[in-house]
Amino acid sequence: MQCWVCDHPAQAICHFCGRAVCKDHAAKMPTFLCMYLGNNNTPKGLVVADVIWCGICQPQPEPIGMPEMF
Ligand SMILES: [Zn+2]
Ligand SMILES: [Zn+2]
Repeated sequence: MQCWVCDHPAQAICHFCGRAVCKDHAAKMPTFLCMYLGNNNTPKGLVVADVIWCGICQPQPEPIGMPEMF
């Protein structure tokens, strides 16, 4: 597997889109694993601080509505 950007050997896979990237081109981004209601109905989210991101795709921070599917 080779880096999507520079064709050098890839060392990571983008968490969001599955592209392979080398160390130079892998970026990191915090991501939400899930949301839940904590005590006092305070919304809380489980966050992973640095998942691998290819820097090319554009993961949305929140699920987007798809009204056209209904
Ligand atoms: Zn690269
Ligand atoms: Zn990606």
